[in-house]
Amino acid sequence: MDSFGYGWHHLPPDSRFRRGWFIYDKVLVMSTFPPCPSCGSEYTYEDGAMYLCPECAHEWAKDAGSDADTDARVIKDANGNLLQDGDSVTVIKDLKVKGSSSVVKVGTKVKNIRLVDGDHDIDCKIDGIGAMKLKSEFVKKS
Ligand SMILES: [Zn+2]
Repeated sequence: MDSFGYGWHHLPPDSRFRRGWFIYDKVLVMSTFPPCPSCGSEYTYEDGAMYLCPECAHEWAKDAGSDADTDARVIKDANGNLLQDGDSVTVIKDLKVKGSSSVVKVGTKVKNIRLVDGDHDIDCKIDGIGAMKLKSEFVKKS
């Protein structure tokens, strides 16, 4: 980054201008920030948990990006069908319930599943057992 080092020395002591160069430097190096949702500027930069736009002063939370990642997560049942929040599924294998002697029998219907992160990627409530987590590979969409 010698060329930037050279540029710094010739900048006037105007903080706004210096900030502009700083942002330009960052964008070149990382170039992973999303464009400003307000004005479309590509010269956005991050500040803690926020993105900031130097052109219109718009600020927005980074969380928007990670939500999109969660939505893009693909969870499939034993037959390869896509599962979504609110789906009903059927258990295709007897499953022992952790920490109890209960077993979720094959053929058990589970309503209104919720997809979550982790090894057990389905959060649900089963009649007679209660809240538990299942693996998507052991269910099929009903
Ligand atoms: Zn903007």
